Amino acid sequence: MKTALEQYDPQIHELIRQEEARESGSIRLIPSENYVSKAVMQASGSCLTNKYAEGYPNKRYYEGQQVTDLIEKTARERAKKLFKADHANVQPYSGSVANLAAYTALINPGDTIMGLSLPHGGHLTHGWKVSVTSRIFNSVQYMVSPDTGRFDYNQIEEAAKKYKPKIIISGATAYPREIDFEAFGQIAQNVGAYHVSDIAHIAGLVVAGIHQSPVPYADIVSTTTHKTLRGPRGGMLLCKAEHADKVDRAVFPGLQGGPHMHTLTAIAVAMAEADTPEFIAYAKQIVKNAKALAEKLLEYGFNLVSGGTDNHLILIDLRNKNVLGKKFAKALDRARIVSNYNTTPLDPAHPANPSGLRIGTPAITTRGMKEPEARQIAGFINKVVENIDNESVIEEVGKEVLLLCSHFPVPEHFIVPNNNNVSSEG
Ligand SMILES: *Cc1c(COP(=O)(O)O)cnc(C)c1O
Repeated sequence: MKTALEQYDPQIHELIRQEEARESGSIRLIPSENYVSKAVMQASGSCLTNKYAEGYPNKRYYEGQQVTDLIEKTARERAKKLFKADHANVQPYSGSVANLAAYTALINPGDTIMGLSLPHGGHLTHGWKVSVTSRIFNSVQYMVSPDTGRFDYNQIEEAAKKYKPKIIISGATAYPREIDFEAFGQIAQNVGAYHVSDIAHIAGLVVAGIHQSPVPYADIVSTTTHKTLRGPRGGMLLCKAEHADKVDRAVFPGLQGGPHMHTLTAIAVAMAEADTPEFIAYAKQIVKNAKALAEKLLEYGFNLVSGGTDNHLILIDLRNKNVLGKKFAKALDRARIVSNYNTTPLDPAHPANPSGLRIGTPAITTRGMKEPEARQIAGFINKVVENIDNESVIEEVGKEVLLLCSHFPVPEHFIVPNNNNVSSEG
């Protein structure tokens, strides 16, 4: 029997089918990507996409909120419990909007924000020059230490004393080491700044208790819901009770209209999934896999920024391998290994074609891969770099990757029925 989508839009149906095949037949090493569960996917594809719910529970601007209020309250309570926060706002459309809401909740246009420089691992929305955050606010940056690739908290404090920012942003998008959020909180306190912490990448590690939580040390914590946390694409803000009203007003009506209720519903499901021993085991395995992958890459002579990893991601500095990030990432993609080229601190190359490659283990861990597979993947990566201009070897690696993938299925599909579905539905 044809699905509704297949019947009404065979073109898009076919493209979704192709994407499903691509996702299951390749190794996903982009550290910000993951695979959601079927339960999250179902909630995300539910009738809640039909409902406008501008406002907050018991304070909406449209009627018919009997169910949406209950869902949003549930999502908020689950988020508060999981992160041990006084208040949670689960409405931001994405991590970027969540960050903008956090800043506008606390300070005024023209005030100074200080975040991690993008080539050093910071996110665009931490005040990088092409982001609107650097036009609304006066933006200054701190760096990692050039010798170690890690934060030097004394240097960051010196920068804070010099620039006197109103907000210090902790958190990163490409930093392979544990972040001392308590130290950031202390620096912020010492210079009279607010501390906004952005844990978009590591939220899953934080709720599992294997990375320090910024919640006790930050005025507002911002996160995405779709990276290690493994929910639908969205954003979330957590804060102390004193900032709750400001945060809520900054999200709505400050920046957004109606929340994406289907996403918010799926966030509630993901929060329940994250509150389980299975999730803690998954988060621990992410780090074990990253360490195993990093160790093997070091054996193969790859240079890793900071020398290794404490979390889910690895930043390879490719300069000793005589290949730039983009060319390498594209060759890996042809070998069914999906990564992203990335700047490294002190990168001499242009940001559009940098010397680094960023990889991570959340998605392979969700598929059930463990240390032996992580080491095997390091071998694939090495084979590609050593045969960067040899298309037949790259194709061979692709076949080996496909074989590995076949042993570690992605969460059950929607459109392509698996074998069980085929037999049960006839
Ligand atoms: C991914 C990321 C974001 C942005 O999230 P989007 O949902 O893509 O807008 C913000 N901050 C950090 C640190 C991130 O890694």
